[in-house]
Amino acid sequence: MSIHSPWFLLGLLFIAGAVGFYASRRPRPSALGAESVRGNYLAGVNFLINDQHDKALEAFLRASELDGDAVETQFALGSLYRRRGEVDRAIRIHQKILARPVLEPQQREQASYALATDYLRAGLLDRAEDLLREISQAGINRMAATRDLIRIHEVEQDWESAIELHTQLARVGKPRQEVALLHYWCELADTARRQGKLDEAASLLRDSRMKQQGFPRGALVRAAIALEQGDAGLAARLLTEVLLADPAMALEVLPQWVRASQELGEEGRSLVASVLEARPAAWKEFAFAAVMADTLDHPELERLFRRMLESDPNLSGFVRALGRDPTDLKPAEVRDLGKVLRRLAKGTTRYRCAECGFASSAHFWQCPGCKTWDSLRPVTRFDFVAGLEGPKAPSH
Ligand SMILES: [Zn+2]
Repeated sequence: MSIHSPWFLLGLLFIAGAVGFYASRRPRPSALGAESVRGNYLAGVNFLINDQHDKALEAFLRASELDGDAVETQFALGSLYRRRGEVDRAIRIHQKILARPVLEPQQREQASYALATDYLRAGLLDRAEDLLREISQAGINRMAATRDLIRIHEVEQDWESAIELHTQLARVGKPRQEVALLHYWCELADTARRQGKLDEAASLLRDSRMKQQGFPRGALVRAAIALEQGDAGLAARLLTEVLLADPAMALEVLPQWVRASQELGEEGRSLVASVLEARPAAWKEFAFAAVMADTLDHPELERLFRRMLESDPNLSGFVRALGRDPTDLKPAEVRDLGKVLRRLAKGTTRYRCAECGFASSAHFWQCPGCKTWDSLRPVTRFDFVAGLEGPKAPSH
């Protein structure tokens, strides 16, 4: 049969049609795989958005089974494992991505930063720091890496490095966190003070003098230096300014303030009265702080505490239940009551973070929960009664 024969051409057409029919009924395996990987990946993302982490994990794992080379699926899995607290698995996935011989530069940057974040989460600060230092030099995650490095320096209390990085951020146009910077300077100055280097401590505060104006912690550190240098007048002046600006700081200020007023003698006795004249409503803050800071031997503060015992119905009831008359207490009895109430109030929540709600019985300049500076505010200043009902565990 000649190739020009009509039968031959008809035969060819038949074969072509049969192949076409077969191909249309059965898609190529690679096309099927790609489609399912995509489908599972998108389903996983959808589950993630709806906070269905278990289902998301299932979908990503399925996508990974179908195509282990799909890097976006590996990133999704790594990040999901970290969110679930399975940091070891996240680390292995991100290390594996980085070990690939072929990787887009942007994917390499993403994998490095993801791995550094894993290390941070796992508390492997040394490894995180090495990686972040590299990432902070260039690339899309430069800023985020610098901020993470600052956090590490805060944990390590390496204040000088933290100051340096803040300055670096300022150079690339990102606004500096002035409050954080001021705290770093205060930390440096206070460390120098504790080491007995009083002049160095004072000059560290002076270096950022313009910014220290009206910054309560700066005034507290400077006052502590002044007290050790024998300058009770300067200490009293600085601490009084803090109290006038914010009576809620009484608990932090009172111990030093009482010391300054005692050293000033006659002149110091009028300090409490002078602040109360300007801020009469602050007397309760002072009375509470005097109990908590164990400064009831100061006559003015003892008087305020007596006033509290008489006027607060819960406290006067408590005193009466002990068989005493709140209006007629001996000085020793007042001090004993102070001791009991201090013990009762110690376990109760007294500060709460305005940013994350972290609750604590002690004061922190930096919130242990969200790491924000100056966000802890006193909440239940007079909660002696909660202590009578039994101590509460600090809530988060
Ligand atoms: Zn917080």
